[in-house]
Amino acid sequence: MSGKEPAKQTPVAQRRDNIGSIEISPERLIEVAQGVRTNAYAPYSHYPVSAAVLGNDGRIYTGVNVENAVYPLTQCAEQVAIFKAVAAGVRTILSIAVVTQNAGSPCGACRQVMREFGGPELAVYIADPSGVYRTRTLAQLLPDSFSAADLGEPDAT
Ligand SMILES: [Zn+2]
Repeated sequence: MSGKEPAKQTPVAQRRDNIGSIEISPERLIEVAQGVRTNAYAPYSHYPVSAAVLGNDGRIYTGVNVENAVYPLTQCAEQVAIFKAVAAGVRTILSIAVVTQNAGSPCGACRQVMREFGGPELAVYIADPSGVYRTRTLAQLLPDSFSAADLGEPDAT
């Protein structure tokens, strides 16, 4: 024995807690989402939507809705933002802001995509263009959700 103590390793659970302590205010996340709102491609619905996701890497990923003349091919802003985060290597999202002209709620499909990468306590900030917002947890938006655990797989969140 050299007398030196072995290097302490941070338990995984503790690392997760530390990751979870990344904090960006709801107002800041909404502001980032507002910043890309004019990039929305919504020539058919005329309902621009923008979103900003905080990944557990501490970075913010944005998205806008992208419509298509073949309507079912339309992508929601929330999903675009989440998929950009996933493409960058993120597997856990910590919060998400969504901005619509009337603070409309995320659609059911987006709620399920949020569940894949966010736990029931995921904070969802739903705002109008002026920044007025309400906060919901994913559990409120998607109670009794289906997740990886239902398939016997570890939950990414
Ligand atoms: Zn959606």
